[in-house]
Amino acid sequence: MEVTINNIRKEFDRFPALNDVSLKIASGELIALLGPSGSGKTTLLRLIAGLDYPTAGKIFFGEEDASHRTVQERNVGFVFQHYALFRHMTVADNIGFGLKVRPSGTRPAKEEIRRRVSELLDMVHLSGLEKRYPNQLSGGQRQRVALARAMAIEPRILLLDEPFGALDAKVRKELRRWLREFHDRTGHTTVFVTHDQEEALELADRVVVMSQGRIEQVGSADDVYDRPGSPFVFSFIGESSQLPVEVKDGALLFQGHPIGISEPGDGVGDLFFRPEDVSLSDEQEALFGKVTACRRLAGTRIAEIDIANEGHAPYHVEIEVPLHAPVELGSEARFRPTRWKVFRK
Ligand code: ADP
Ligand code: MG
Repeated sequence: MEVTINNIRKEFDRFPALNDVSLKIASGELIALLGPSGSGKTTLLRLIAGLDYPTAGKIFFGEEDASHRTVQERNVGFVFQHYALFRHMTVADNIGFGLKVRPSGTRPAKEEIRRRVSELLDMVHLSGLEKRYPNQLSGGQRQRVALARAMAIEPRILLLDEPFGALDAKVRKELRRWLREFHDRTGHTTVFVTHDQEEALELADRVVVMSQGRIEQVGSADDVYDRPGSPFVFSFIGESSQLPVEVKDGALLFQGHPIGISEPGDGVGDLFFRPEDVSLSDEQEALFGKVTACRRLAGTRIAEIDIANEGHAPYHVEIEVPLHAPVELGSEARFRPTRWKVFRK
C-alpha cells in the first residue's frame, strides 16, 4: 500500500509538533523515521494510523483520501515500545484478539482463527509457545508476539514505534535483523520509528531524518551518511567536526588563512567533516592544533584536537589517525579534510 503524506501540520495548543511534512512511502517499502526525542516521529506515526488527526494537510492510502478515516477503517497494524500484551491472555489469544473482536459477518470462524494464529506463530518463530502467558516470555519474544498480533488483521500497513527500544542492546540487534528478514518475506509497507541511527541505517530501505517537526532529509543510508543535506543531518548522523570558514576566489579560508581546499562560490559558512575523512599533512596550508586526547579504537585511533582561537575558547575537532602515526598527547597535529561539505550561512 502506497502512502502519500501531503503538507501535514499538527498543532498541540498552537505548538507545531509537525510543520509542513510531505512524504511518499512506496508500497512494500521499509522506511525509518529517525530523529531526536521530540522531533515529531510518534506524532507522524499516530496520524498515519488514524489515532489522531492533522490540523492541516492530507494523508492518502493509495488513491484513497484516508485523512478522516478511523483506525479500523484504515486497517493498520501497530506495535509500540510499551504496547503491553494482554496479561491475562495466552500468546495465542493475544494474537487472535483482533480477529475475534471483528463485527460478526467479517469475523472469521473459530477454526480459521486458530489456523491463522498458528501460521503467524510460525512466521515470528514462536511455534510451541501458544499456551504461554506474556510474563512467561522474554522481552524479545513479547515484541514478536505484539508484531504477530499486529499482523493478524492483515493490515495494509505496519507501524512500529521504537518497538525494540526497551530491550537490551544484544536482543535489539538480533530483532533488527529478524525484522528485516521478516519484512522481506512478507513485503508489508512498514514505517519504523527510532532515535537510534544505527538501527535506522541498518534496517531501512530509506531513512527520513526529522528535527523539530520537519523532515530534514529523505534518502538511503548512504545518502544521509555520505551526502548529508543539512548541518543538522551532518552532525546528527555519525561523528563530525565543524569550523567557520570563508570562501574567497575559490579557496577555503579558516581564520583568514587558506587551508588547501578549493571550493566554488565566495561567501561564509561552516565546514563539516567526519573524523575518518582527514589525512595528516605536512603542508604549510593545513589545519593544525594541539592534541588534547587520544582514544584507541579497534584498528585505529581518534585524536581530539584543540585549534587555537585567539581570545576565545579553542575550536575542538576529532580526527581518525593510523595506530602508529606520530600523533601524541600534547604534540601538534597537522591535517586536512579529504572529504567535506561547506554549508553556507
Ligand atoms: P518523538 O516521537 O520524535 O519523540 P513526539 O511526536 O512524541 O516526538 O512529540 C513531538 C512534539 O509534540 C514534542 O514537543 C511533544 O512534547 C509534543 N506533543 C506530542 N504529543 C502531544 C500532546 N498530546 N499534547 C501536547 N504536546 C504533544
Ligand atoms: Mg516518540
